[in-house]
Formats: sequence, structure tokens, C-alpha cells
Amino acid sequence: MGPGPVDADPRVLRAMAASLVGQFDPFMTDTMNETMALWRTVWRTENEQTFLVDGTSRAGIEAALVSLLEPGDRVLVPVFGRFGHLLAEISARAGAEVHTIEAPWGEVFEPDQIADAVRRVRPKVLAVVHGDTSTTMAQPLEALGAIAREHDALLYVDATASLGGNSFETDAWGVDVATAGLQKCLGGPSGSAPVTVSVRAAALIRARKHVEAGIRSADDIDHGARIASNYLDLAQVMDYWGPRRLNHHTEATSMLYAARECARLLAVEGMDAAIARHALHGGAMLAGVRGLGLEVFGDVAHKMHNVVAVAIPDGVDGDAVRGALLSDFGLEIGTSFGSLHGKVWRIGTMGHNARRDAVLVTLAALEQALRRAGVPVPPGGGVDAALGVYESATAGVVA
Ligand SMILES: *Cc1c(COP(=O)(O)O)cnc(C)c1O
Repeated sequence: MGPGPVDADPRVLRAMAASLVGQFDPFMTDTMNETMALWRTVWRTENEQTFLVDGTSRAGIEAALVSLLEPGDRVLVPVFGRFGHLLAEISARAGAEVHTIEAPWGEVFEPDQIADAVRRVRPKVLAVVHGDTSTTMAQPLEALGAIAREHDALLYVDATASLGGNSFETDAWGVDVATAGLQKCLGGPSGSAPVTVSVRAAALIRARKHVEAGIRSADDIDHGARIASNYLDLAQVMDYWGPRRLNHHTEATSMLYAARECARLLAVEGMDAAIARHALHGGAMLAGVRGLGLEVFGDVAHKMHNVVAVAIPDGVDGDAVRGALLSDFGLEIGTSFGSLHGKVWRIGTMGHNARRDAVLVTLAALEQALRRAGVPVPPGGGVDAALGVYESATAGVVA
């Protein structure tokens, strides 16, 4: 029940056990096409270029940034947590001129603050984290696509923590490139990075295409500044996933099966229903920790549905409580990074763990662990508050 990775859905694990096939086997290429179509549903996009990068979420981030940014290009990163710093760092490694604006941890930016910075910096790419798990905050993105377009910038979004558990509208919000990983709300293991690329971003990436020696044809003319990574070169990866099936890496077949199953389960549930499920169980967890008398960190109005940061009560050894939850109850909750280290626990309700039994058992166990750590907790206060949320949700449906 941490901030990710979380338990994979058993159906995803089962899908991963299927037999392997060769990379140009018709079953393999059909599965790749089907996976692209399913992820369009998850991303809410018509983007043809919707596929997987093999590697964890960070491979998707790096593929997007290294394929968009040429040395000397300006990038603007609004930083409101650890992963914003990561986008800035990866952009700097790609040779970009990096500009950042920072919000205090636990807060997000007003769209105007981002618009002002775009006007000042004139970036080629505006690179934003949607939900930053380090602080639990979700940056509102609705206005950013228009801001980017108005100033001829591309909008890149890291949606790793938020996708599947919070609204995400690639096309309606004008997102040019978005990337994720399976191990948060998407219910899979880490190791595959779903990516979607808009028509205009794909054109910009293709304009930098340099096909490898040994597989190039007479029509493959090099153009533009060569993308600095071979493995994460989206121009070549798009040709591998596209009708040309240009040989690049060997698609990680078991992860392909996992990613297809994650998207299939979400498509069957419906994206709105999956988001509502995360809102419900995340809301129950929020009420539950408050019912135990704990303080919640950050601007709760902008909290992601799927994770809550809880202040560790004064005098309590946070790691000892986490250790007790793990050894006595088999439950993992998360620690924190940077300035929040030792100050908050992060508790997730995401993917397969966004479930009533998981929420209630976690709150019951946390109550015991806190009591044994000497914290005066209201008996049953967590479970009662969470059940209250479930009861009023059911009453809402009946009414
Ligand atoms: C969890 C998370 C990641 C994780 O990256 P991995 O390479 O899969 O470890 C990246 N970005 C955000 C916003 C995250 O929350």
C-alpha cells in the first residue's frame, strides 16, 4: 500500500506467463497493434503513435526528452516535487538549456505562473509532471496545451503516477507527448513505459531520423540532429511499431503481454469507472487517516486520488512503524524523499490495491501499529471514517 510499485493485478501476472513468439510472428505483430489500440483508450487519444518503450517509466521520460530536445534547445520545467527535478536533469543530459520555476512541495502552480514563464523563456518544450508522487500533488494540466501552442512549444507530460487513477485527456488537453509506467494505477509490474506522441511531435521526431547502418534502405536519408540515444530513439522505435517493422530492439514480449492486459482491464472497466474507483478508495483512505487523528500533508484539493502523505506524529519513529506493519501485517507503506524524509508516510490506494478490503485492513493495521508506538489513536477511528465514505457513496448511488 505504498506510493508504487504496488501489487500487480493477478490477471496481469497470468498474462505474462503466456508463451513467447518470434518478433515478426503474426501473433506478435497483431498483439503489438492491439496493444497500441488499447493504450489509445487509456490515454484518451487518437494518436497513431501510441506504443511502449521497453524499460521503466524513466526510460519513457528519457526517450521523450532525448528525442524532442536537441543540444541548445530551451526547455521549461515547472518543478513541484522530486520528479520535476528529474525532468530537468534528463533534459540537461540531452544538452538542452534548462529553465525551471519552483513551487513549494505540497503545492501546485497556477496556470498563469506557467504561462508567464513560457512567455519569458520561449521554450521548445514545456515538460511537466502530472502527479508527483513525492508530494502526492497533481498539477492541473487542462490549460497548458493551449499555453504551449500559443507560444509554439510542445507539451510533454510524465503521467506515471496519475494515469488510470486520475483524469488524463491527451487530446482534449493538447498534450504532445506523454509517458507512464505500469506500476502505479495501471496495475502492472514496472518495466514497460507506455508512450503517446501527437502528430506534430511525431513529425518533429521523424525529422531527426538516422536509421542504423546494416538495416537502412536506399530511401533512408539522414536528416536533422541525430537523437543522442540509440535505444531510446523514438524515430526508430516508431518504425519498429509501425507498418515498416524496422528492426530495432527485441520487444520485451512478456512485458508486452503485461502492458496489453493492464490496458485491456482498464478498457473493460472503463476509464471513468477506474478513475471513480481510485477517487472512492483514495477518499476513504484520506478520511481514514484523518479518523485516526493524523495530519495530511499538502494542498488536499490538489492531491492525486491514489496516494496520501500522512504526517508522522511527533516523537514517533516512522521507519519503526513501517517495519511493524510489514513484519506483523505483511503490509508495506511508503517512506518519503528529500525534505519530506522522516516527516511523512505515503500511503497508496492504486491499481489492484484501490479496493475496499485493502483500505480497511490497512487502516486497522495502522491503528494497531500506532497504538503500540504510543500514539493515542481513537479506537476504530480509521475504519469507521472509511466505512462512512463507503456508506455515503452507496447512499449517493441509491439516491
Ligand atoms: C513513480 C514515478 C516514476 C518512476 O519511474 P521508474 O523509472 O518506473 O522507477 C516516474 N515519474 C513519476 C512522476 C513517478 O511517480
